[in-house]
Amino acid sequence: MSLTSQIKEFALDIGYSKVGIIPADSFPEYIDELTNRNEMYAFYINSPNRPLVSAEPRSVMPSAKSIITMVYDYSQKSFPKKFTDVMGRVYQARAYNAPPEHTNGARKQLMREFLSKIGCKVGENIILPERLVAAKAGIVNYGRNNFVYADGIGSFIFLTSFIVDQELEYDQPTVEVGCPDGCSACMKACPTGAIYEPHKINPTRCITFNTNFTQDGMAGSYIQPEMREKMGTKVYGCDICQEVCPRNQARVKGKLPDDEYLLNAEKEFSLAKMLNMTDDFYQRRIYPLMYNYIKDRKYLQRNAAIALGNLGDPEFIPDLTVAMKNQEGLVRGYAAWALGRIGSQQAYQVLQECLTQETSVFVRKELEEALVAIQSISGID
Ligand code: SF4
Ligand code: SF4
Repeated sequence: MSLTSQIKEFALDIGYSKVGIIPADSFPEYIDELTNRNEMYAFYINSPNRPLVSAEPRSVMPSAKSIITMVYDYSQKSFPKKFTDVMGRVYQARAYNAPPEHTNGARKQLMREFLSKIGCKVGENIILPERLVAAKAGIVNYGRNNFVYADGIGSFIFLTSFIVDQELEYDQPTVEVGCPDGCSACMKACPTGAIYEPHKINPTRCITFNTNFTQDGMAGSYIQPEMREKMGTKVYGCDICQEVCPRNQARVKGKLPDDEYLLNAEKEFSLAKMLNMTDDFYQRRIYPLMYNYIKDRKYLQRNAAIALGNLGDPEFIPDLTVAMKNQEGLVRGYAAWALGRIGSQQAYQVLQECLTQETSVFVRKELEEALVAIQSISGID
C-alpha cells in the first residue's frame, strides 16, 4: 500500500470523515486577503499564531513537502437547546483544539504518532489557513457565510492538518462556493451584519469575536453597548449563520442520538450560575466546554451579564446585584449595564446604591449610563 493510502486509511479508521492532501506550497491568496483587510484582521495578524508567516509553510519548515488535511464531523450527536442558545456547537462537542487527554485531542495525537511511525517528519506549531487547505485538497467547499462544508455533513466540522516532509499523491481542489443560487439566508440572519458581502466577514462585528477575543492582551475587553445588545444570549461563539443554512438542515433538524455528557451538563447550567460561578461550577461545567479562548473567568462572567441583560427579565436583578459585589471591575461594569437594560425601580435603586460606593472609573461610567438608560425609558428620577 502506498504511503498516501496508508495515511488516508489510518485517518478514516480513527474517526476522521474525510482526508485530502496537497503540496506544502505557499498561500498567496490568503496572504493578500489578510493584508488587504489589515484593519479588520490586525488582532489576528499580530497574534502569536503568525498567520502570514505560516502561510508560507517552507519558511518555517524548509523540508515541508505535503499537507494532510482532515475533516472531523462534530455534529454526530444532538445539542441541547439550552446550550445552542448560548454557545457554539464546536465547543459543546469538545472538538475545538481539544487537549490530548480527551477523545478529540487524542485522535489528533494518534494521527501525529502514526505519521512519525511511518517515517514522516511532522511540522510543529504551524497554524495553517485550515479552510483554504481543505478546499484545495478537495474535501470541502465554501459557503457564502465563510464557513466550509463537507459533502454529506455540512459545516459543523473541525479541520485539522499536518505538514510533513514526504512527497505524497495530491488531490484535486474544490475552492468554490457550493451554495444554491440566490440563497443569502446566512447574511439576512446575522444579527450584527458581520457578513457584509458573500464570503466576506468583518470579524470585529462577529459575535464570536466579541464573546471570545475581547480580552485584555487581545482585542481589549471593552464591548460597545450597540454590540452588547446584538449579542443576545450568546456567551461563547455563535452558530446563527450556520443554523439557518439549508446545507445544514439535515443536522440541525434531524433526529440525532443524545449526547449524554451534554444532557448532564445542561441540567446544572444557567446563565445566572455562570455569572456568579463558584470554583466548583467553573471546573466542572464551564471549563470543559469553554476552555479554548477564554482563560480568565471574568470574561465569561462579563458575557453572562450581557446575556442576562439582553434577556431583560427582572428575575435576574438579584443575581446581578450579587455580581455588583464581584472583585473584578469588569464584571461589576457589565452587571451595571445589564441592570440598566432590564430597567425597573428595583434595578435603579441597586445602581444608585452601588454608585455611592464604587471607586472604579470604568464601573462608575457604566453605572451612570445605566441610570440614564432607565431614566430615559421609565422616567424614574
Ligand atoms: S457567527 Fe453569528 S455574528 Fe458571526 S457572522 Fe455568523 S451569524 Fe453573524
Ligand atoms: S445560508 Fe445559503 S448562502 Fe449562506 S452559506 Fe448557507 S447555502 Fe450558502
